[in-house]
Amino acid sequence: MNAIHMVRREICEIGRRIYQRGYVAANDGNISVRVSEDRVLCTPTGVSKGFISEDMLCICDLEGRQVAGHLKISSEIRMHLEIYKLRSDIHAVVHAHPPTATGFAVAGIDLTQCILPEVIVSLGGIPLAAYGTPGGPEIFEPMRPLLVEYDAVLMANHGVVTLGRDAMDAHFKMETVEHFARIALVAHQLGSVKTLDPKHVGELIDLRQRFGIVGRPGCKVDEGVPTPAPAPTEESLIQQITQQVMIQLREQS
Ligand SMILES: [Zn+2]
Repeated sequence: MNAIHMVRREICEIGRRIYQRGYVAANDGNISVRVSEDRVLCTPTGVSKGFISEDMLCICDLEGRQVAGHLKISSEIRMHLEIYKLRSDIHAVVHAHPPTATGFAVAGIDLTQCILPEVIVSLGGIPLAAYGTPGGPEIFEPMRPLLVEYDAVLMANHGVVTLGRDAMDAHFKMETVEHFARIALVAHQLGSVKTLDPKHVGELIDLRQRFGIVGRPGCKVDEGVPTPAPAPTEESLIQQITQQVMIQLREQS
């Protein structure tokens, strides 16, 4: 099997994963991979990512002209193409609407606090880009300055975009964002979000350099932390924890 077939298979597998995990509903979301200097393999419009097959994928150039595929490319692929033009180190983009991270994007709260070591090491943080109408050029402009540095961005009142060196890398970053958002949400519900102290954050930043993750931004230690929710009553606390456990169990089943 040649490399392009492997990439086609990977895109379909990621489509199934993001659909099954509830990161997209109906025909939402899109996945693309830059397969050569001026060719991008991408998901088409109007097809559920959970049921996509390799022959449904399209190829376009960096200007958005479709060069292969019997289905039409999505208008949201233009955002992916702008990312490829902006970042020569990026070869794959995943866009989805994972509910918890998108909930933060709707609430106007970014995910840049220094809370979890693995997020600090892999992403630094996940900033929030202002809203832009989907499908048009204005969707990308608020994201542009953030995507110069960050590999994952929340899109206000819309969803999340993640960037990777390959499709699975971009997909795993999407998983990390949603996982982080869930943990941050539980901490908010419990009424306390404690950030790591600067000394420990510094150690994690050093670790990133050892892993070859350079030039990525850090995270917020003690500023910009959203006001914690009021301390819940014992009854509401039990209800919230039960709900979280039920969600986890449903996802594992
Ligand atoms: Zn979208």
